[in-house]
Amino acid sequence: MYSERFTKLTPYVPGEQPQDRSYIKLNTNENPYPPAPGVAEILKEFDVETLRRYPDPNSEALCHAIAREHGIKRDQVIVGNGSDEILSFAFFAFFDSAKGPLLFPEHTYSFYPVYCDYYDIAYKKVALDDDYGINIDRFVDEKGCGVIVPNPNAPTGMLLSLDKVTELLERWPSDRVVVVDEAYIDFGGESAVALIDRFPNLLVVKTFSKSYSLAGSRLGWAMGSEKLISALYAVKDSFNSYPVDTLTQKAGIAAISDRAWFDKTRGMVMAERERVSEELTELGWKVLPSAANFVFAGAPDRDGKAVYEGLKAKGVLVRYFNKEGLTPFVRITIGTAEENTALLDAVKSL
Ligand SMILES: *Cc1c(COP(=O)(O)O)cnc(C)c1O
Repeated sequence: MYSERFTKLTPYVPGEQPQDRSYIKLNTNENPYPPAPGVAEILKEFDVETLRRYPDPNSEALCHAIAREHGIKRDQVIVGNGSDEILSFAFFAFFDSAKGPLLFPEHTYSFYPVYCDYYDIAYKKVALDDDYGINIDRFVDEKGCGVIVPNPNAPTGMLLSLDKVTELLERWPSDRVVVVDEAYIDFGGESAVALIDRFPNLLVVKTFSKSYSLAGSRLGWAMGSEKLISALYAVKDSFNSYPVDTLTQKAGIAAISDRAWFDKTRGMVMAERERVSEELTELGWKVLPSAANFVFAGAPDRDGKAVYEGLKAKGVLVRYFNKEGLTPFVRITIGTAEENTALLDAVKSL
């Protein structure tokens, strides 16, 4: 009944979205604040009659808004149904293990190996440094068909400086694509989008799910040279020509056009991240330095799974990782001040 390729799939397992009771939900890196007020306006004023028609297949107005926000050309942008879809298109278009394995960090976003299996791309996990940071020398030395790194990395939250990203691109073959997955860059890093004119093999992927509070809308985008972006349009149009619905296109424009809201909400998340990091450190936890909207932290007296279970019993949901090297830690999404205080109280009563 099944194709052979189907029988080889190992699907990604998303974080829990429990329906049994209400938790303080700090397990899937969602933004604790609502999207920009303009998004609610769009929904309120939306003329349902327009749903009769297919959406604009290439989300022209949204791509122009994104390009304007980043000071790049419209043809250097493509949007998709979440950055997960954009990443899937990039894997299909750019990575071919006849030229060597795809390289990504040993501990990273667990969708990457899933896409590799889906597209039959061999991959190699590149070891992190002892402090869990990404070491670009190790990538340059490995020589694969391409590189993908989240920046900041997940689930560590650790940032690679723009200087280091630049150095990687300088030392990496210009005919092999480097994808920088910037799902969390707005919480404390410098985007590599400034480098796309200099490095035509650089693809920068971003999402509305985290810093724009639109995880439920499923909207992501990529920025890169026109050459890379036109390849992604060709993949899109070979798969689904209308990946972004009419409402979401409008919501995205409203969200990305409100810089004041964006700065205010990410500022609150960053300030709370520092508070949570400091308080956990005072409680004896090991907290990796985070530039994201979550912290990766280990308790002094029990492993990540035990922390997860203890906190869940107290109504706070975090995420643990059943993977060698990560078992001491949990990943805690930064919530509102009240949620974070409840988390810290729950930690103290473990
Ligand atoms: C959340 C996340 C994504 C996926 O974002 P969507 O736009 O919601 O699909 C991609 N990469 C990393 C590293 C993430 O954490």
